[in-house]
Amino acid sequence: MAVPAREVRRRVDVLSRALRESGLRLTHQRLEVVREVARSDEHPDVETIYRAVRERVPTISLDTVYRTLATLAGLGLVRRVAATPGPTRYDANTAHHHHFVCTRCGLIRDVDDRGLDAVRAPRSAASLGSVESVEVQLRGICVDCHKKERDHD
Ligand SMILES: [Zn+2]
Ligand SMILES: [Zn+2]
Repeated sequence: MAVPAREVRRRVDVLSRALRESGLRLTHQRLEVVREVARSDEHPDVETIYRAVRERVPTISLDTVYRTLATLAGLGLVRRVAATPGPTRYDANTAHHHHFVCTRCGLIRDVDDRGLDAVRAPRSAASLGSVESVEVQLRGICVDCHKKERDHD
């Protein structure tokens, strides 16, 4: 399952414009970071994006990747996926959606479901603050991890 080409182009447009407007020069390196995060639906961490971009731009530094993502996250255009084990994972899908998280290998996949969209915050949550959105995180073991387990038996 890949992000449709048209959606990737839309994201690259939005993200690169935002970087320019926030005063950052849209260097070739930053544009490659934008392209990588825009086309991934695997919720990559900084290291993963760095490794992928480095194949095309060998001079890129981990710090450039980190700061580009932090800037985009600060603008709300790339989201950090909350409460996943290990390093911070980034998500260029800003549409409301939910996640499946494999607690064994850390795989994260988008889940779109109207039933989950309909989940409302309980009234008691009002004592904690005002709720703006509800995201459901499905946690469990992914099919690949199940398969590996079976193959070992
Ligand atoms: Zn897994
Ligand atoms: Zn997502």
